[in-house]
Amino acid sequence: MQHSRSDSLFSRAQEIMPGGVNSPVRSFVNVGGTPPFIARGQGPYIWDVDGNKYLDFLGSWGPLLLGHANEAVTRAIQSAVVSGTTFGAPTEIEVDLAEMINRAFPSMEMVRLVNSGTEATMSAIRVARAYAGRDKIIKFNGCYHGHADGLLVKAGSGAATIGVPTSPGVPNAYAVETLVAEYNQLETVEILLKEYPKQVAAIIVEPVAGNMGVVPPSPGFLAGLRAMAHEHGSLLIFDEVITGFRVAYGGAQQKYGVEPDITCLGKIIGGGLPIGAYGGHRDIMRLVAPSGPVYQAGTLSGNPIAVSAGLACITELGRPGVYERLEETTANLEQGVLAISEAAGIALTVNRVGSMFTVFHTGEPVAGWNQVARSDKDSYASLFHKLLNAGIYSAPSQFEAGFVSTAHTASHVDEFLEALRVGLNN
Ligand code: PMP
Repeated sequence: MQHSRSDSLFSRAQEIMPGGVNSPVRSFVNVGGTPPFIARGQGPYIWDVDGNKYLDFLGSWGPLLLGHANEAVTRAIQSAVVSGTTFGAPTEIEVDLAEMINRAFPSMEMVRLVNSGTEATMSAIRVARAYAGRDKIIKFNGCYHGHADGLLVKAGSGAATIGVPTSPGVPNAYAVETLVAEYNQLETVEILLKEYPKQVAAIIVEPVAGNMGVVPPSPGFLAGLRAMAHEHGSLLIFDEVITGFRVAYGGAQQKYGVEPDITCLGKIIGGGLPIGAYGGHRDIMRLVAPSGPVYQAGTLSGNPIAVSAGLACITELGRPGVYERLEETTANLEQGVLAISEAAGIALTVNRVGSMFTVFHTGEPVAGWNQVARSDKDSYASLFHKLLNAGIYSAPSQFEAGFVSTAHTASHVDEFLEALRVGLNN
C-alpha cells in the first residue's frame, strides 16, 4: 500500500498537534506505524488520502452502528443544516430525541443532552454526589468513562494503552475520591462499601466493558451491583456510552434486565455527530439546573444538527430485525475467528456481546483487567498491521472493542476472515 500522503500529513500534524492527533489512540501509539488519514467513508468501507480502501471494523469507535454516510442520517443532516446550525434556544427536536431515548430507556425518566460521553459521565457523577450528599465514587479497573478529573483513575483504553493508569494533572484531592474495584468481582465492591461507610455517592460501571476490550458482565454482576449500591445508600450509574442502542435497542439495561439509577449515553445517539446524554429517575434529575441547584450547561447542547442525525439514526435502529441481523453477522464473525485460530494453532479468545467484540491474544478466558493485561500486545500489534495492509481497519489497541454495523454483510465478514486467515498463517 502507498502511504505517502498520510506519512506527510502525519509529519505536519505532529508539529502542530500533540502526537499528531486530536484523541490519543488514533495515533497508533500502541501498535506503531503511521495512521492512515481518512478521506471518506461509505457503508462498511473507508478510504484514506492515498486512495487505499479499508473494510472498517472500528466504526469511529462505536457511533456508526449504521455504517458510514448512512442515507437516512445524511439526509437528516442535510435538511437540518439549511435551517441554521445552532440557536442556543429550545427546539422541538430536542424534546423528540429525549422522548425517544426515554421510550428506549424507561429508567431515564428525565434526560439532559450534552456534547460528549465525557460530559455525560462527569455531569451524572455531579448530580449523584449532590443527591447522595457524599463525595466518593466507585469505578472499575479497566473501565473508561471519559477524561474528567477523577474518572481518569485505572481507566483502561487509551490511558492503559499509553501506560498512564492515572493521569498527571489530576489533583490528588480528586483522585482519592475515586475508589477502584475489580470488574466482575462483587466482593471487591463490598469491601470498599464497608471500608467507606456512607461515603460512596455512586458506583459507575460500563455494563459491558468496552474499554479494556470487550468484557461481558458475569451472571449476577450487574444485579449484585444494584443490590449492593442500594443497600449502602449509593446510586448505580450505567455508562452506556458504548452499549446504549448497541447491545440492544434499550442498551445493556434492557439486555440484562437491570435498571440503574442514572444512565449515560453518547456515540450512537448522535448518529456520528458530537452528542451525549444523561438521565435517570425524576427525583434525581430534578436537581439539575435550572429546576435544581446542580449546575450543568452547554452552548451547543442539544445542537440541532446532532439531534437530527441522532433522531434519524435511532429511527432506523427501531426497524424490525436490526438487532437480530447484527447478532447473526457478528456471531458468524466470532465463530469464524475461533475456527481460523484453532486451525492455525494460535490461541485467541473472542469476547462478544451483540455487535461489539474483541479478539484477545491469549488462550485464557478474559473476565477482567487482570486477564486483559496478560494478553500478548506484540502479537496483537503484528496482526493489526497485517490486517491493515490487507485492507482491514480494526482497533489499533488490544484494549479496545471492534464494532460491526448494519452495513456489514456476510460477504464483508468473509472478507475479514480471509484476511485474518492469511495474517495468522504468515
Ligand atoms: N464512556 C465510555 C464507556 C466510553 O467508551 C467513552 C468514549 N470511548 C466515554 C465515556 C467518553 O465519551 P467521549 O469520547 O464522547 O467523551
